[in-house]
Amino acid sequence: MNKDDLEDFYQTKCDYYQNYVGISLWAGVIFSITYLFSDYLLNGSYLPTLIPRLSVLVALLVFVIVTHFFKNRAITVFMDYFLSHCIVLATIWAIYHLEDRIHASEGFIIMNLLFITVGFVSRPREIAISTFIFWMEILISNAFNHYSNLDIIFALEIPCGLAVFCSQALLMLFYLDHYRIRQKLELAMITDPLTQVYNRHLLEKIVTQNALKDVTGPVAIAMLDIDYFKQVNDEYGHYTGDLTLLYIGQKLSKGTHANDYVIRYGGEEFVIILKNCDVNNACARMEQFRREIESATDTPVPFTISVGVSRYTGDFSRSIQNVDHALYKAKNTGRNKVVVV
Ligand code: GH3
Ligand code: MG
Ligand code: MG
Repeated sequence: MNKDDLEDFYQTKCDYYQNYVGISLWAGVIFSITYLFSDYLLNGSYLPTLIPRLSVLVALLVFVIVTHFFKNRAITVFMDYFLSHCIVLATIWAIYHLEDRIHASEGFIIMNLLFITVGFVSRPREIAISTFIFWMEILISNAFNHYSNLDIIFALEIPCGLAVFCSQALLMLFYLDHYRIRQKLELAMITDPLTQVYNRHLLEKIVTQNALKDVTGPVAIAMLDIDYFKQVNDEYGHYTGDLTLLYIGQKLSKGTHANDYVIRYGGEEFVIILKNCDVNNACARMEQFRREIESATDTPVPFTISVGVSRYTGDFSRSIQNVDHALYKAKNTGRNKVVVV
């Protein structure tokens, strides 16, 4: 996977699992408060650890507010780890108030469950950084908590940290399958099965996502229609008609730039979105294409095309109306020509 694909992989993984992670973190906060009961068994009172245990609610509030307003992956993952580590710090604070700290090691083992969960939306390096911070939190807190069994805590933490890492590596492999299938489905959704160019789903996507807004140069739109295509079907049969559609789809794909869009708009109509291309240039390119089709010797049957060209105005439906009008003119003034509106 290249850098952009990897970015997309982690983004979709985060989108897919974040709800689950969010719910788990809520549960983590609630369960960490329920440790008040074991604190009571150790101290014989709820009071000493009440504030440390309840302090996680402040962190939860910050988490809820920030994740409500910011949806990007970096902030989401940062906040997931922020809340997990706040739970760790609140636990360390509560341990400080426990009369018997021997059970700290068990508390720290349980914390790894949170890190396994947050790992669902993280990258390996984020897991590594968080693990390092977690271990530092234990080590530094030893300065005032004076764990009687720090060696045991770390002897247990190392396999736990490895388990967090390995579980995420496995999940990554499982999710990779899911991701690839999803990519194939998304591509199939926007691909016309006969001609292998895009279909109208992509056009809808371009319109709803306003996908042309980032193009800096001019954009031209062309609408192409095969002349008397019904006769091709009637005279040579639908199979030959299909081959003709396939031929033109392939030729259009080869004849356009990689970031242009070739879309099968209807039966034998194609819309071509030419980026960084003004109307004159679009017209010249379409005219050349029309001539090539007219004189081609490798087509399934001889045929011609009519093309309408227009400038993309920024309003998609308006531009499609213009280009449709241009095509209508081409059809009404003899076919086999390119008309600009
Ligand atoms: P004009 O020059 O005015 O465009 O005439 P035309 O015959 O090309 O246009 P018309 O709209 O009358 O006919 C379009 C034909 O395209 C009718 C339909 O059978 C055919 N068609 C649409 N989709 C397919 C397809 O997927 N495969 C085949 N073989 N034919 C198709
Ligand atoms: Mg036609
Ligand atoms: Mg037509």
